[in-house]
Amino acid sequence: MVDERYEPETTDVVRDEGVTIAFLDGYVASFDLVTLRRMCPCATCRGLRDQREPVWPRPGSPTPLRIDDANFHGAWGLHIEWNDGHSTGIYPFESLRRWHEGGVAFPRDSGLGGVDEA
Ligand SMILES: [Zn+2]
Repeated sequence: MVDERYEPETTDVVRDEGVTIAFLDGYVASFDLVTLRRMCPCATCRGLRDQREPVWPRPGSPTPLRIDDANFHGAWGLHIEWNDGHSTGIYPFESLRRWHEGGVAFPRDSGLGGVDEA
C-alpha cells in the first residue's frame, strides 16, 4: 500500500534554482540548491555536520552551485550530482517531505545523519 504523503507525483529539477516535489496527496515542497546541498544525507556530509564544518561551500567549491544531474534512486529517493563533483547524496522523498514540514528530516538514529542547521 502506497503512502501518498511520501510518493512524488512530479519531481521538477531546475538545475540552477532548486527542486520542487509534488506529492500524491497534493502537498508541494520546494527546496533551493544551497539548502539541499547543505543537508546532503551522505556519510561525508554527515561527518562534516557532526564536526560543525560547513558542508558547502568547501574551499575551491565552484559558485554558483548547480545540479549537474538528478535521477530517481529506486522509488524512494532522488540522487543528485552537483557541480562541485559531489554525487554521493541520495535524498529520500519521505525525509524531504518531513523536513519541509518542519520536522527532523534525518534524525541521528536513522542512519541518514542528523541535520542541525537549516
Ligand atoms: Zn554529501
